[in-house]
Amino acid sequence: MEHNIAIIGAGPRGTYCLRRLTLYLRQHPLPDPVHIHLIEKSGKFGGGGIHSPTQPEYLLLNTIGSQITAFGDDDAEARASAARKTLHGYLIDQGISIGPNDYPSRARHGRYLAAMFDWIEAKRPPGVTVHRHCREAVDIEPGEDGAQLIRFEDGSAVAAHEILLLTGHAKNRIVPGSLMEAWAQFAEGQQQKGRNVSYVNLVYPVSEKTAHIEPGETVYVIGMGLTAVDVVKTFTYGRGGRFGPDRYTPSGKEPYVILGSRLGMPYSARGRNQKSDQYKGRIFTREAVEAVKARKSKVDFKEDLLSLMIREMEFVYYSKMLGPRFGEDF
Ligand SMILES: Cc1cc2nc3c(=O)[nH]c(=O)nc-3n(C[C@H](O)[C@H](O)[C@H](O)COP(=O)(O)OP(=O)(O)OC[C@H]3O[C@@H](n4cnc5c(N)ncnc54)[C@H](O)[C@@H]3O)c2cc1C
Repeated sequence: MEHNIAIIGAGPRGTYCLRRLTLYLRQHPLPDPVHIHLIEKSGKFGGGGIHSPTQPEYLLLNTIGSQITAFGDDDAEARASAARKTLHGYLIDQGISIGPNDYPSRARHGRYLAAMFDWIEAKRPPGVTVHRHCREAVDIEPGEDGAQLIRFEDGSAVAAHEILLLTGHAKNRIVPGSLMEAWAQFAEGQQQKGRNVSYVNLVYPVSEKTAHIEPGETVYVIGMGLTAVDVVKTFTYGRGGRFGPDRYTPSGKEPYVILGSRLGMPYSARGRNQKSDQYKGRIFTREAVEAVKARKSKVDFKEDLLSLMIREMEFVYYSKMLGPRFGEDF
């Protein structure tokens, strides 16, 4: 019997899953052919959506390049090349001058993911076929012989015995009777009167979704998290403004932006990474976890593991704070 496995969404998670699945199938081969169907609506396998390679370079990751990888610690084959092991290694290999502690753009991360996706597909074991579907899955319904049918907009479908639903960030549905619906209806009414009023429910891709906003118009941004950072950058950098060391030089094309949130506080910026290499646990170690497992038939996270983690954090905190005096009696 042929096996059909579907992965809906080929963003970072879909890419990682494809690797884990093909590695597993290499280690545990099945006698019958395996078909893996990758369904990605953007057509960008690896970096679709949030990590699209076509978005502007000023939209950054909030993770440093040397701490991003598409591969697990146990994946020696993939990690054998620095250009695959981390995003930073990939960018250096591409001739891009960037430090290991710098925050690369999400577009570059998308290019890394797309390259890794191609490599993973090329490395699939014999008997495994990868099918790319540049389609949007709109429904899943029961099929024949225990299979599920993944339906596309035109009514056609792909049958799968197993489905991994990795669709990532979703657009909030406007619930009838909600405040959001009232805002959307208000904006629509204003547009019918020829006014440039809009309610943008999902702001990605940001440049396209905000292009209609004219210089000097007032924009109210609900929320002060990651997406708000992208929006403010799009209205400033994206419109030709420049941030200097002590001041911002406007281009004159910016709208007037008001940010609001329940807390009224923007998210904290990420700190500069001052660690010279990757910290290796001294207390919360594999050996310590194995010892707990040998002692108890059922490991309790709070009781057995969290205490190890907290002691590890305390160890790092006090050893850094006290330096050479760490371990002395007080
Ligand atoms: C603005 C922003 C910045 C972020 N920055 C970071 C960061 O710096 N570092 C970090 O670790 N995380 C970051 N994240 C968190 C983000 O969730 C993860 O980085 C990552 O994108 C999650 O991967 P994913 O594959 O689960 O989802 P996504 O990246 O959202 O990918 C899902 C994929 O599924 C596809 N898809 C969705 N629905 C369908 C459908 N019906 N049919 C077919 N295809 C479909 C989409 O096109 C997309 O390609 C950020 C999130 C946001 C919103």
